[in-house]
Amino acid sequence: MVDRYQRFAATGFGGFVTKRLGLPRPPHLYRHSPENPRSPGPVLLATTEDATVTGALHAILAEGGTPVHTCTSPDPTPDEPQEPGSLILDATGITETTQLCTLHRLLGPRVRSLRAGGRVLVVGTPATDCRTLGAAVAQRSLEGFTRALAKELRMGATVNLIYVPAQAPTTAASTVRFLVSDRSAYVSGQTLHLSETTQSTNTEPPTPPIAEVAPLADTVAVVTGAARGIGATIAETAARDGAQVLCIDVPHAGAHLADTATRVGGQALELDITEDDAPQRIVAAARHHFGRLDVMVHNAGITRDKTLARMSAQQWDAVLSVNLLAAQRITERLVDPTDPVLGPGGRVVCTSSISGIAGNAGQTNYSTSKAGLIGLVTALAPTAAERGATVNAIAPGFIETPMTEAMPLLVREAGRRMNSLRQGGTPQDVAEAVCYLADPGTGGVNGQVLRVCGQSLIGA
Ligand code: NAD
Repeated sequence: MVDRYQRFAATGFGGFVTKRLGLPRPPHLYRHSPENPRSPGPVLLATTEDATVTGALHAILAEGGTPVHTCTSPDPTPDEPQEPGSLILDATGITETTQLCTLHRLLGPRVRSLRAGGRVLVVGTPATDCRTLGAAVAQRSLEGFTRALAKELRMGATVNLIYVPAQAPTTAASTVRFLVSDRSAYVSGQTLHLSETTQSTNTEPPTPPIAEVAPLADTVAVVTGAARGIGATIAETAARDGAQVLCIDVPHAGAHLADTATRVGGQALELDITEDDAPQRIVAAARHHFGRLDVMVHNAGITRDKTLARMSAQQWDAVLSVNLLAAQRITERLVDPTDPVLGPGGRVVCTSSISGIAGNAGQTNYSTSKAGLIGLVTALAPTAAERGATVNAIAPGFIETPMTEAMPLLVREAGRRMNSLRQGGTPQDVAEAVCYLADPGTGGVNGQVLRVCGQSLIGA
């Protein structure tokens, strides 16, 4: 997806004008294409003597056949890849503030060599594993470094940070693969905290290369709001990754819903998710068609924008009941101890929004509902972990959909450009993040909110 301004800025004349005027210059984003996947490119793995997860990172990356070159010296050596696809820093060995210079010394001389659309990944130690004050301070510093570097990188490159427990580094396998792949093209400047508490249905990490595997094979996924927009793309992407999909939407969207279900070879359920018996009907339909339910994607959402003073009770109630209460009731049903639906490897993914993080004028109802979803995943994460399941949220930023197309021109342009990648995301960007969280191999990510926003300045 390339918008009109982006097309103009990519021309010779447009490039000249935008540069002279200091206007945003959106880079080309290299997104994953199953038909035509880019080679991942060599990985440069920078590390220090005391780093704890380098061996595991090397194994995770090398398993896919990706060439991995390890470096420890500040000075690049002639045998290093000249144009790495990814630059990974194992920063787990940084246990003192004075050692933070490692970030500068190891990445500084190399970051410019990254290829267009390359990936930087910083790997740190979780705060709970830091034994000294110096270690805790230094490790927390990695977040500021990552956020700042994300604002410096050019040509569609991204940088993210993951905190990985030294005792269970293989829980990071699917996360590492996602964040170094073209599937995460619109995820930058983000931090994920991995834990070792949840288990995967697979004892072995899934085997790459990503383009050739079906990480959701043998899983049954339910997607609400699947008739159109982001939900339809999530259903398609889940099916691409091997899932059997139950597509849900309101009865008046039945024709489009049937189209999605046919396209993905799945089943359709016409249902208003705010109905009292919706949770029971979803579970019954999933069991009837597929025998079980492994992944629940709460995607359906509505807006009824007005300032609080002008908002009707109906507008408030409609948004809260579709966006939040329905998701809460359905999820409660899935973890009901008297008849649990989600077993080990079970996944719940809620669709929040950066409006739920930052708030948005005219959207008190919507922002309340989307913040509530973050509360839902935070509160339910321990219960999910007890079952070997996870519950997470994604928070999309400005996504190119009919909803954002209908915005007034200047508001739309501001929304598109106010992020480090200077462009809107696509439904595919959101769907890739959802399917990564739905992956049985992503058991180490629980109770988290992953922003898919190109490092939006809003709520940053
Ligand atoms: P959309 O309006 O195109 O699609 C939403 C779908 O949900 C529709 O098919 C609709 O019929 C369905 N739906 C609404 N109420 C329902 C109900 N009661 N029961 C069942 N289905 C119902 O929206 P979208 O742009 O694709 O957004 C999808 C999700 O992503 C929403 O939760 C939205 O809040 C969130 N989001 C979107 C953006 C964006 O930029 N488009 C940004 C952040 C978050």
